[in-house]
Amino acid sequence: MTLAPKHIGIIGAGMVGVSTAIWLARDGHNITLIDREGPAAGTSFGNAGILASSSVVPVQTPGILQKIPGMLFRRDGPLFIKWRYLPHLLPWLRRYLSYRDAPHVESIAQALMPIIGDSVEQHLAIARDTPAARLIEPVAYIYAYNTGETYRHDGFAWGIRRNLGFNPVELDQSALQELEPSLGPTNGFGVAVPDHAWIRDPGAYVTALFDHAISTGATFEKGLAEDFIRADATVTGVVVDGKPLSFDEVVVAAGVWSKDLLERLGVPISMESERGYHVELEEAQGGPSRPVALAEYKIIATPMIGRLRLAGLVEFGGLDAPASDAPFELLLSQAKHAFPALRWKSEKRWLGHRPATEDSLPVIGPVVKGVYAAFGHHHVGLTGGPKTGRLIADLIAGRTPNFDMQPYRSDRFRAKSTRQREHGTTRR
Ligand SMILES: Cc1cc2nc3c(=O)[nH]c(=O)nc-3n(C[C@H](O)[C@H](O)[C@H](O)COP(=O)(O)OP(=O)(O)OC[C@H]3O[C@@H](n4cnc5c(N)ncnc54)[C@H](O)[C@@H]3O)c2cc1C
Repeated sequence: MTLAPKHIGIIGAGMVGVSTAIWLARDGHNITLIDREGPAAGTSFGNAGILASSSVVPVQTPGILQKIPGMLFRRDGPLFIKWRYLPHLLPWLRRYLSYRDAPHVESIAQALMPIIGDSVEQHLAIARDTPAARLIEPVAYIYAYNTGETYRHDGFAWGIRRNLGFNPVELDQSALQELEPSLGPTNGFGVAVPDHAWIRDPGAYVTALFDHAISTGATFEKGLAEDFIRADATVTGVVVDGKPLSFDEVVVAAGVWSKDLLERLGVPISMESERGYHVELEEAQGGPSRPVALAEYKIIATPMIGRLRLAGLVEFGGLDAPASDAPFELLLSQAKHAFPALRWKSEKRWLGHRPATEDSLPVIGPVVKGVYAAFGHHHVGLTGGPKTGRLIADLIAGRTPNFDMQPYRSDRFRAKSTRQREHGTTRR
């Protein structure tokens, strides 16, 4: 198809924005990437690096309400909260938990499949012929459990993954240790999910893709996107650090910060920061040779170039509160427990913000005339960035995706808040 080239502004140079830039440039459009800092400055920098195709099951599942007190108050529980933030969080949290029943969870998993189910293929396609391709490492992704019994407690989630075509292989303790000898005796059971991959340095990966976009003609505008320029009902540009920039189309790919931008267009987005942490152990010895998820603790240990990254956990506390100490200590203590021979020289610590919509699904598609949304990927934005970029390029080109895009539409929160006002309830 021959397209009339457009000038397209993309707000956000994380995994999603950079992927979108590449696919739009491959369609012949002129791209300007806008970021207040630079490539991979947000959550795309510090994640666990897993192309987690099988991570289709959201956090909120049946039984979550009974698990929350333990997750929050147990010494080794993976959930944290800044209590001062709770009054602000509660309305969103109530809505978020209202998706925990089996039918909602199954439909969320089904709707995530087209975005992340073939992520290795999608990443190979976007990184093709770029230095980023060298950072993609195929692997069977291991989940280590303390016992077979705790694995069976996750049976609902594993059933959904199997039904969607994933083939997890169960490993008894000796099979688990054979596959990953650094794991100690506290890991009594494991699961290996074939056909996954990991990125050996997510920050370098997104930066290499960004450099590729620039080398093929995209431009970069460093600055804060403050507002949109409108002509009647159409958006015709973006105000960046007070400077008006004109575009034919604008894509909002600003991760968790996209909510504020869409609110400027009068479109409510029900999204919170699900804060996550990492500690990097530089020059680590005795750790895993491949990514391992410590399943009960929501921690992933991922070998990266020159270091081991321990990433994960969940904290609610908004965008502005400083990092807490306890999550870092938990990452370190659980890693020492799981990998008894682990030693390292020095540490680096990081806090990031997962863009968590109430229904655990991203927002992808048209917003108002001249604006497209590409954000809200929760735990799987590294995984789902390339497919999202491809979908935005399809929509702008008028190519119809071969699956239902309704679950990702940007007006779904408006529809819900109107219904709730009418019925005076937040439960579904
Ligand atoms: C601890 C942790 C582990 C994770 N592990 C994984 C994993 O293993 N696999 C996986 O798939 N996902 C993982 N994730 C989730 C993943 O990192 C995110 O979903 C993903 O990075 C979101 O990418 P993004 O491009 O949407 O947003 P971001 O990477 O946050 O990028 C947004 C960009 O927008 C810019 N920006 C924001 N507002 C403005 C503005 N107004 N003007 C200009 N620029 C602006 C920011 O500077 C930033 O560069 C993890 C997350 C965390 C916290």
